[in-house]
Amino acid sequence: MHNFRGILSVMKHLSLLPILLLASAGYSSVSMGGEAHSHADTGHKHTHASGLDLNHFFDGALAEDAIVVDCTLSDGTETQCYEITIAGKPANHEIGPFCPGSISTSADDAGIWFDGDGLYDVDGDFILGVAELYGDANWKLHNDDGTVRVTDTPEAFDAAARPDVDPEYQNHCVAGEMAWLENGEAVQTTVTIPVNPILAGKSSSGGNWGIALNGVIIAQSAPVENILSAYTIAVFDDCGGHINPVDGYHLHGAMGCSELGDAPEGETPIFAYAMDGYPIHSTLSEDQIDMADLDECGGHSTEELGYHYHANPAHENSVISCFKGVTLEGVRGGRRSPGGGLGQGGPRPAGE
Ligand SMILES: [Zn+2]
Ligand SMILES: [Zn+2]
Repeated sequence: MHNFRGILSVMKHLSLLPILLLASAGYSSVSMGGEAHSHADTGHKHTHASGLDLNHFFDGALAEDAIVVDCTLSDGTETQCYEITIAGKPANHEIGPFCPGSISTSADDAGIWFDGDGLYDVDGDFILGVAELYGDANWKLHNDDGTVRVTDTPEAFDAAARPDVDPEYQNHCVAGEMAWLENGEAVQTTVTIPVNPILAGKSSSGGNWGIALNGVIIAQSAPVENILSAYTIAVFDDCGGHINPVDGYHLHGAMGCSELGDAPEGETPIFAYAMDGYPIHSTLSEDQIDMADLDECGGHSTEELGYHYHANPAHENSVISCFKGVTLEGVRGGRRSPGGGLGQGGPRPAGE
């Protein structure tokens, strides 16, 4: 009766349009630390065309000026890295909305969900159809009066957004607010990214995937199995991000909300950098993918752009699939918690 698979309503596209326009028109260069600036401009541009450009970040995306530090990459290369602290909240758009208020809420007034298979508007119809979607009659996210069962206090949110979901919060739509984070502040994350990216002998993964140009961390896949097994939906906003108590606002799907500028023919705009220093561009259309010859990590090299990734379609719940380049030794690439996802938050690592 309800077929949500792969459907994103026309209304949702229309509602995203102002955000996209804002994103492409609203950027401006950040003020950079003198040191970072001098290193960025020492003539590497032609030999490393696709390396990180601090000017690409939106105004307000960085919590402080980036600096350049000596670093050792996982292959032993001693080189220089940018140390970048992102603001932890989108510089160019509001956060939310997330859960629908009732079974009659429209897609415009609620967020989205993706589970590796499909991308769904979490509107009233989704709430009514969720038991059928997941083939399990135990699902019921709404009360008999039609209101949706939402984590509407910090306590409820903390109890629901953890691996061992409090049984009391099973069958809830789970969403938090920035005001509920520690001190009511966005979670800033410092990442260390090679100034000049280097292709690795073999691809790798681990830690966060990267940072978006609007100051948001790109986390690993949301732990969908954990979330669904507790009869919860850790809803994302229309930009593919959500909040957890440890990591703050973070991204799991590329929805085009931090794109910068135009793209050459057959390409899509840049919206992020991966932890190995290579740019991440928006998802290619199906026609474009046929032409692009992407590698196992979703990247390819072009004359105009050098090596760069294209984000997976958001429904896949993983913005990229692996790192093609060398990342920093260990998992220092801005990692704050395993998985960085709702349901895997856990305590902060020692020393943070
Ligand atoms: Zn490309
Ligand atoms: Zn998450």
